[in-house]
Amino acid sequence: MLHPDRLFSSDPTQRAIARRLYAEVQNLPIVSPHGHTDPSWFALNEAFPDPAALFVKPDHYAFRMLYSQGVPLESLGVPRRDGGAVETDSRKIWRLLADHWHLFPGTPTRMWLEHAFETAFGVTERLSPATADAIYDRIESCLRTPEFRPRALFERFNIEVLATTESPLDPLEHHKAIRESGWKGRVITAFRPDPVVDPEFEGFQANVATLGEITGEDTATWKGYLAALENRRRYFKEVGGATSTDHGHPTAVTADLSTAEAEALFAKALRGTVTAAEAELFRGHMLTEMARMSLEDGLVMQIHPGSVRNHNPLVFDRFGRDKGCDIPSATEYVRALKPLLDRFGNERDLTIILFTLDETSYSRELAPLAGHYPALRLGPAWWFHDSPEGMRRFREMTTETAGFYNTVGFNDDTRAFCSIPARHDVARRVDCAFLARLVAEHRVDEDDAVELATDLAYRLAKNAYKL
Ligand SMILES: [Zn+2]
Repeated sequence: MLHPDRLFSSDPTQRAIARRLYAEVQNLPIVSPHGHTDPSWFALNEAFPDPAALFVKPDHYAFRMLYSQGVPLESLGVPRRDGGAVETDSRKIWRLLADHWHLFPGTPTRMWLEHAFETAFGVTERLSPATADAIYDRIESCLRTPEFRPRALFERFNIEVLATTESPLDPLEHHKAIRESGWKGRVITAFRPDPVVDPEFEGFQANVATLGEITGEDTATWKGYLAALENRRRYFKEVGGATSTDHGHPTAVTADLSTAEAEALFAKALRGTVTAAEAELFRGHMLTEMARMSLEDGLVMQIHPGSVRNHNPLVFDRFGRDKGCDIPSATEYVRALKPLLDRFGNERDLTIILFTLDETSYSRELAPLAGHYPALRLGPAWWFHDSPEGMRRFREMTTETAGFYNTVGFNDDTRAFCSIPARHDVARRVDCAFLARLVAEHRVDEDDAVELATDLAYRLAKNAYKL
């Protein structure tokens, strides 16, 4: 299924260079500084139950495509919030994926899944209704062996470090257990405070109260609330090994309010009486507070704006968050980030990594911003753009203005554990193909391209995320 020259140019000169570059980076360890895998996998090290639980149920890329073609999420075993009946027969779920495999050509989902089937499980036939059962049996029998437990796969995938993402209210029990187990795999957390800094997040008031209980701070006051956040960031660093924070706001809006203004807005948020515009202002001010805290405690800040979450109320009500119905929206950065940058943009000891779901901002806004402000870096092509074409466009639209060293290597940002090697491999191949073109056009020397390929595949992520 996997051609050795996949994703390289069909031009023989470029292809030959890309092969040489890729040979240098193909086997470098994986640095995964941002993602959403479940730390309990590595803490408990229990076998993954079955192929559907591994490849279908946690992968919103896979099930959103089937849903778009009329397949109910219940029939894919996606749990309902009300505990209502969903399909529990994993083989049936698997057959449903196989019946719809013709929907996936040209999508990264197919590339990732086939990479995992072939390299991790030794499957060499394409998934189809005719092969579904044989492939299911093969994967299932693998999963029953010790070599396919989460920690063994982590080692086989050659992962040097893997970051998960947790709410400040998470006790980090699994991360503690991983550390105390003596296992050498490095799994760290990242601090994602959306549930306690976004007045529109489900349960915001209760979340802030819980934040107060677990930190012993009075989060009914602005001062106590900030102290509680600082306290929790410290805990994430010390107990969970966090080196970064992550902020999933609807826009890139930042604000720099006076203490009195922030205090008044916070009180209103706690009363649940903020308007949508005030909620936006509060989130924006909290990004600036988070940048201030990052300057103090060294956590690298990631901003992932521009996703309209839970766009489909029916799916949200029935299944909850992260079910493939978050939709990108146009995102403005230049004016939105100005209040934060006015305060902290020139700091050399602060790293803010910007992501986008709005590719029109790459060359117009993001590359010029990151190509100037010392505090800013550009995150890799994200989510809907975490794809060969998306990565290519990212390099094409940012490199001439921001160079390579204002970018931070690759993030797989995945919930699907077995897709990690596939995603990093795609990024390495696309970057090698991009560099090969520059070499073939005599714009970059091949020696330099080898160094660049190594930085893009490995060193930049380690350095940017302090790993
Ligand atoms: Zn993420």
